[in-house]
Amino acid sequence: MTMKTQLAESPDDLERYQPSSFDEIVGNHELKEFLQEMIYCVRVKGHKSGFNMLTTGPSRDGKTAAINLAVKSLLCCNLDIESMKPCGICENCKSRHHMNGTGEWNSIVDFSDTPELNPMPVRFHYYPIDCTWVNSERIEELISELRVDDGNLKIVYLDEVHRLSRRWMDERLLKPIEMYPAIWLASSAIVEKEGDDDDQKIDKMFQNRFSYRIKTQRPNTKEMLGWLVARCKQFGITTEDNGETLMRLVERSNHSPGMALQVLNKAHKKRKPMLTLKMVEDHIFDFDE
Ligand SMILES: [Zn+2]
Repeated sequence: MTMKTQLAESPDDLERYQPSSFDEIVGNHELKEFLQEMIYCVRVKGHKSGFNMLTTGPSRDGKTAAINLAVKSLLCCNLDIESMKPCGICENCKSRHHMNGTGEWNSIVDFSDTPELNPMPVRFHYYPIDCTWVNSERIEELISELRVDDGNLKIVYLDEVHRLSRRWMDERLLKPIEMYPAIWLASSAIVEKEGDDDDQKIDKMFQNRFSYRIKTQRPNTKEMLGWLVARCKQFGITTEDNGETLMRLVERSNHSPGMALQVLNKAHKKRKPMLTLKMVEDHIFDFDE
């Protein structure tokens, strides 16, 4: 769970399923809309800042998957602006470095050779930071790179951002977030409740640096069922009845696509991929809310 930013698409492992278009994201309407507007403004209007967004919600609610897809779309050389669907075949879509939470600091993408697809060529720097593991040296390195105003587009993604507070790294970022032009995206599984300990919170001052604050939204029954039918079709999984098993999976997973994928993955790992009611009933759903 803590290494989510490192997960890349893997057709063999449905728990690591990454949507390849916004149509494949179910629920999270507000988050989806924000990300699509951001992609449009960056790719068509040339905007480079003003999209600081913090999304919070239980783990496996699709925060990182949606943000990864948005970054992939931003970097795609052949992005179809109408459908917002990354092409999947260009150099950048095939590269995994934008999914990599470690090592790669700069993913520089120059669109200047495809001006017809991107009216405003820009060089992208993408900084995915897994806040569970990041150290203060790396935060300092990030700050010094952001300080250089070279006109390039810089996107910082802080995954599990509440973890920064342990070493006051959130305080260290207060000024940079305010001062340096960049797009700051952050996600956290911390959903604040009354009476939580201070270390289970995201500092108010820090939160205020993110003018867009979006809570994850679970899909309704109809949306979730439709999504499960589509995923079963996509991965060649059959069910033993007419939708009762999937309906039960909607209920038991509490409408969480990430939780339901755990069960679909078990079905997919059979010689004959079939989802049975027993598999749905026997699965242990470990909710963190
Ligand atoms: Zn592409």
